[in-house]
Amino acid sequence: MQRWKTFTYHPCAYGPPNKRLISVSTIFQKIISGDIPSDILHQDESCIVIRDIEPQAPVHFLVIPKKVIPRVGDADYEDQQILGHLLLIAGKIAKQEALSAGFRVVINHGQNGGETVPHLHVHVLGGRQMKWPPG
Ligand code: AMP
Repeated sequence: MQRWKTFTYHPCAYGPPNKRLISVSTIFQKIISGDIPSDILHQDESCIVIRDIEPQAPVHFLVIPKKVIPRVGDADYEDQQILGHLLLIAGKIAKQEALSAGFRVVINHGQNGGETVPHLHVHVLGGRQMKWPPG
């Protein structure tokens, strides 16, 4: 099976790559490349942190790897360092955003998980009391 190694994604986010369809960049690739503006909180060689455009809490930012990994379940052992880095940066930016009272870290995987952008990203939400179970 062809693997999603390149800066492309299949418009049917949950299906296998299909060569008959045109590959396009995800919105996050366009943000990483600077083609689309965003409110950037942090950037380093392997990730970018932006404020979510539709915040679900007073503070809501996304930690996005520059490497295109469609979703967490598609990550491989070679991605271990990047995965760890995303959480480390999530915690550091949460501190920077004064979320000392607590925050929630969310990764949506696939249709049932509520994923809408097929480029791995870690949501960090804070500034209000979170509920459990989540919706
Ligand atoms: P998910 O539903 O887990 O795939 O999360 C995708 C997130 O990306 C949603 O919370 C969107 O609000 C957010 N989003 C989509 N487009 C943009 C954008 N241009 N800038 C910032 N956040 C975005």
